[in-house]
Amino acid sequence: MLPIIRKTQRLRTYQSIWLPGERRIFEPYQVSKDLKAGCTDCGSTLHITDIVSKTNCGLGFFMYILCECGSMNAIKSGKVHHDASKFKTRPIFDINSKAAIAIYDTGLGEHKTNRFLADLNIPGISASSLAKREKEVSRSIKKVTDESLDRSLEEEKNASFSR
Ligand SMILES: [Zn+2]
Repeated sequence: MLPIIRKTQRLRTYQSIWLPGERRIFEPYQVSKDLKAGCTDCGSTLHITDIVSKTNCGLGFFMYILCECGSMNAIKSGKVHHDASKFKTRPIFDINSKAAIAIYDTGLGEHKTNRFLADLNIPGISASSLAKREKEVSRSIKKVTDESLDRSLEEEKNASFSR
C-alpha cells in the first residue's frame, strides 16, 4: 500500500513542477553526472522524477530532488562558475554568460532574445541578470581585444623595422 501512495505523490509533485509544453535548456552530461554522483547524505543515485521544486537563475535552474533517505539535494541544470573578481559569490550558470556573449555577437538585444525564447516556451532571462552577465563578459572581451591590439601593434612595429 505504501509504495502506491508514494508513487502517486511523486507523480503529483512531478506534474506540478513542470508546466505542459514548458521547455528548458540543460546540459544532459552535467545533469546525469550529478544525478549519478548521488545524494549528499547517503550516496544513493538521484532520479529526476523525484524533483519537488526548482529555482530559476536566468536560463539556468536548480532542481531540488528528494532522496529516498529524506535528504534534499540541489542539482544544477548545467555547469557553473564564480565571479573571479569577488571573494565569494553565488554560482553563476555558464549558460547565462554564454547568452550575454551570444546577444553581443548577434546584436539581438535583451528584448528580442526574450521574445525568441518565449516563442520556444523557454523562460527568459531578466534584464538585470543579463546586465550583470554583460558586464562580466565585457571584461573578458576587452581583455581579448586589448591583447589582440597589442599583438597587432607589435607585429606592425616588427614589420616596419625589417623593411
Ligand atoms: Zn539520500
